[in-house]
Amino acid sequence: MSPTERWQAVMARDRRFDGAFVYAVRSTGIYCRPSCASRRPRRTQVTFFPIPEAAEREGFRACRRCHPADANGRDPLGALVREACRAIDAGATPPGDSRKVARAFKRILGITPRAYAEARRVARFKQELKRRKQVSPALYEAGYGSTSRVYERTHEQLGMTPATYARGGTGVEVVFVTVPSALGRLLVAATDRGVCRVMLGDDAAKLEADLRAEFDAAHVREEKGGKLEGYVAAILSYLEGTEPHLDLPLDIRATAFQRRVWQELRHIPFGETRTYAEVAKAIGQPQATRAVARACATNPAALVIPCHRVVRADGKVDGYRWGLERKKTLLEMEKNA
Ligand SMILES: [Zn+2]
Repeated sequence: MSPTERWQAVMARDRRFDGAFVYAVRSTGIYCRPSCASRRPRRTQVTFFPIPEAAEREGFRACRRCHPADANGRDPLGALVREACRAIDAGATPPGDSRKVARAFKRILGITPRAYAEARRVARFKQELKRRKQVSPALYEAGYGSTSRVYERTHEQLGMTPATYARGGTGVEVVFVTVPSALGRLLVAATDRGVCRVMLGDDAAKLEADLRAEFDAAHVREEKGGKLEGYVAAILSYLEGTEPHLDLPLDIRATAFQRRVWQELRHIPFGETRTYAEVAKAIGQPQATRAVARACATNPAALVIPCHRVVRADGKVDGYRWGLERKKTLLEMEKNA
């Protein structure tokens, strides 16, 4: 089912889709079955999940009105994954053939059972953090030994894998495509692990030349269709204002500092902005405002890492790697979506 079809099912409160997916609402932190009788949320606040456990993994709580976790799906793979999730949540080993369980996990949740267990721990940690506003007891409760491990795991969970390639992309296959968009030419490039560049410009040939210069040791080739098609479709929907959550996997090189900044940028909700100082504070380095601005200016994945949501303290929209006008247009679009 496409997000649009799912949204239509929610708008129609269609019972036939109970158990087929759940929808979560960012503003309330609650997830529901499609037929839930509660007030319908704004589309921009909604994320869909194939099974309740996937929503819980992201820290959403089940609605007390429609009890989404009680809806039975018709998909046997989904049922298998849900049973395994319940076992893992209870601290047990999932029953049945472990390879079959692992395959079902990949299909439904896109992760391994082990990554699920880690993600649950991260989610519990975040809930504890919110509740206690103190780091050490929360860490203790969530079963973590050290803070650095939390950062490591959180990055993994949020889909920003450390780039596997060396500078210049030695030996790596990079595919790209350039398409017209509301913001001019849009170039999207990816390795087999995720998006490695999103660039905006006026001239496709110039964008391609810049990409090739950055990946001068990689095999760079243009590819129509394939997995790029999905990434491009998601980015174009975002630019039309119909896809507020651009949670694409990334495969990018970064210093530890850049990674923390870029990760933080991905937490700024659609339609909101933060100042450079606020981002610096959020990553625990309030003195690093200028370094945050530099990290924004070197963002390799425009839009997917929403550096356009960072503005000056006086509210003025300033520098954007891809042009000031584009930044203004993006912020306008998000405000009116
Ligand atoms: Zn509900």
